[in-house]
Amino acid sequence: MSTTHELSGITESEDELRAILAEAEIPPLLPALAYATGDLSLLRDDLRPDPLTFSLPQGGLTQEQQTSARELALRALVRFRDAGCRTAACPEGDALRHIMEFAVGGSDMKPYLPLLEEEMSHRHEDRRAPQWHKNDVAPTTPFHVLVIGAGMSGILAAHRLKQAGVDFTVVDKNADVGGTWFENIYPGCRVDNPNHNYSFSFAQRHDWPFFYSTQDVLLQYFRECADEFGVRDGIRFETEVRSATWSDEDQRWSVVVANREGREETLEANAIISAVGQLNRPHLPQIEGRDSFAGPAFHSASWDPMVDLRSKRVAVIGTGASAMQLIPEIAPLVSQLDVYQRTPAWMGPTPEYHARVPEAHQWLYGHLPSYSEWNRFCIFWRMGDGALDGVRVDDAWKSDGASVSATNDMVRQFLTEYIKAEFVDQPDLRDVVIPNYPVGAKRLIRDNGAWATTLKRRNVDLLTGGIDRITETGVVTRDGEEHPADVIIYGTGFHASKFLTPMKVTGRGGLDLHEHWDGDARAYLGVSVPGFPNLFCLYGPNTNIVINGSIIYFSECGVRYVLGCVEHLLRNGAKALDVKKDVHDRFNEAVDTENRRMAWGASDVNSWYKNDTGRVSQNWPFTLLEYWERTRHPKPDDYELL
Ligand code: NAP
Repeated sequence: MSTTHELSGITESEDELRAILAEAEIPPLLPALAYATGDLSLLRDDLRPDPLTFSLPQGGLTQEQQTSARELALRALVRFRDAGCRTAACPEGDALRHIMEFAVGGSDMKPYLPLLEEEMSHRHEDRRAPQWHKNDVAPTTPFHVLVIGAGMSGILAAHRLKQAGVDFTVVDKNADVGGTWFENIYPGCRVDNPNHNYSFSFAQRHDWPFFYSTQDVLLQYFRECADEFGVRDGIRFETEVRSATWSDEDQRWSVVVANREGREETLEANAIISAVGQLNRPHLPQIEGRDSFAGPAFHSASWDPMVDLRSKRVAVIGTGASAMQLIPEIAPLVSQLDVYQRTPAWMGPTPEYHARVPEAHQWLYGHLPSYSEWNRFCIFWRMGDGALDGVRVDDAWKSDGASVSATNDMVRQFLTEYIKAEFVDQPDLRDVVIPNYPVGAKRLIRDNGAWATTLKRRNVDLLTGGIDRITETGVVTRDGEEHPADVIIYGTGFHASKFLTPMKVTGRGGLDLHEHWDGDARAYLGVSVPGFPNLFCLYGPNTNIVINGSIIYFSECGVRYVLGCVEHLLRNGAKALDVKKDVHDRFNEAVDTENRRMAWGASDVNSWYKNDTGRVSQNWPFTLLEYWERTRHPKPDDYELL
C-alpha cells in the first residue's frame, strides 16, 4: 500500500456506477461531487443531513433522501466521466464553507473553517508543514534535536524537523518504528477510531482494508510513513534513554542512552522532544501471590506468541479495551476461559468494527476526487467537538451517579438498551455487564456483538466477585473458590500517569522532574514544563481524548507548536526557552476546573485518566478547536528566553 493518493480514470458503465453508488456513504458523496465539479447545485436543501441525527448511519437521511441523493450523484458522476474526469478549480472561502455546512448539516462552521481545511488536506496539500527553513533563519547556528520514541508522534516530529532543515536523532527502545503498534501484538489488536481519521492528515491513503485496521496494517502504515518521509536513517533502534540532564552552563541536554546489551553512551542535544506515549509501561496488578503462579503469565502488551493457548485453561484479568479485543479472539481456542471483570465497560454498537471496506467504497476512494477527504471530514466532525456536550456535567442535573446531564442520560439509556438486547437470553450476565457510572467516565469500547457472543460461550465464565489471590495453579476469588488456570493474561492497562518514566530527567538547577511532579504530572499545553528548558512533550499530560477526535490530531498540533518554539529560538538567537511558571499554573487550573465538569472527572469510577492523587492528568477537557488554536503558534510572552 502506498500513502500517495493517485486517482484512476472512470471507465465504468452507467449500470456499474449505479451499483457502486448503491453502497456509497451518502454524507461525503454529494459534497465530493460538488467539490470536484464545482457544481454547488448538487447540494440540494432537501438532501441535507440534520445536524441532530448526523451521527446516525448515513447521516440520519431517510431512505427516500438516500435514493434521491444516489440518483443525483449518478447523473453528476456520469457527466464527470463523460467530460474526461476533469476537476474544477478548488472551491475556497464561502463556497467551501457552503459545502462543509451541507456535508454535516451544520449552520455556522466559520470558526472551524481554517482548521477543517487543514485537516482535510484537499488536493493533498500539507498545510501543517513548517513554513520556515533553518537555512533561512539561522544557517550557522548548530542545533540538534533528540526525539525519544519512533512511534506515531516520533515519526511525525522527525518528518517536520527534516522539513525545517533541523538536525535530529530519534532513539527508540524497540527494533522498529510504530510504538504501540509495534509492541501490541495480542490477537484482535486493532484501532478503535476509523482509519480515515486515525492517520496523518497529510499522508492519507484510500485503500485501508478495514474501517478499523488491525495492528499489522497500522504497523505497516507507520513503517511506510517512516520510509516515505525519509527519516529512517535518523533513527537509532534498540536504544533506550536512561537519563537526560540539562546543563545550565552549556544550555543543552546530555542524554544517557543504553543499547540492547546495556552499553551506555552520552548524546548531546540542544532540545529534546519526548514522543514516548502514555500507554507503553504495562501495569501489573498488586494481587497477592501474583509471582507464585507456575504457568506462563504475561501482559496484553507483552504478548508471548510462543505460548500455545489451544486447549488450555486461561484466565484473563481486566475488561478494558485491550482485554475486550483479545478475549473474543482466544475464546474459541482455549478449553476454558475465565474473565475477571472489576468494572464493566460501556459499549458502543459498531456493526462495521471488524468489517472489510467494501469494494464499492474502495472504488469511490480510488476514482471520485476528494470522496476520501470528504469521508474523513464527516468522520472528523461526527467524532469531534459535538460529542463533548454529551459528557459535560450539568450542575442542575439530579442523578444517582449514573449520568451527568440529560443528554448523557439519553446516551446511557441508548447504550443500556443495546447491552440488554445483546444479553436478552442471559439475564444473569446482562445484570453484571451494564455499567453503573456515566458514559464517558471511562473509555467507550466499540462492539459488533462479539462481546456478548463470547461471554455466552459454554467455555467462558465471567467472574465479577473480585480476586482474593493468585496461587501456583490458578486464581482464588473472594468467595474462596479456586479457579484453576494454565495461563494468566493481564489486560490490566498501563502506568499512564507516570509520564516519562522510567527516565531520570534533571532540569535547571538540578531539579528532578519526577520529584517535581511528585506523581502529579502537569505541563503547559501538554508540552512544556517550567524548569525544563527545551524539553517538549508530545501526548504529554492532559492531551488525551476520551470520546472526541484522534490522538494523531493532537500530535500534529503538538508537533507544529514544538517546531514553532524551535523557530522562535533560532530567530531570536537564543539557546533555550523555558515556559513561565505563572502561565503554566494558570493553564493547569483552567484544565482542572474543566476536567471536573466532565464525566471522567466528576465520576469516582476507576480509570487510567486519573493519577494516584485523583487528579485527571491525562485528558484534554476543551474542544479540538481550542487545542488547534492554542498550538498554532507559540506565544512569545509565555516563555522566558535563556
Ligand atoms: P485499561 O483500560 O486501563 O483496562 C485495564 C483493565 O484491567 C480494567 O478492566 C481494570 O479494571 C482492570 N484491572 C486493573 N487492575 C486490576 C486489578 N488489580 N484487579 C482486577 N482488575 C484490574 O487498559 P487497556 O485495556 O490496556 O486500555 C488502555 C487504553 O489503551 C484504552 O483506554 C485505549 O485508550 C487504549 N487502547 C486502545 C485500543 C484500540 O484503539 N482499539 C485497544 C487497546 C487499548 P477497572 O476498570 O476496574 O479499573
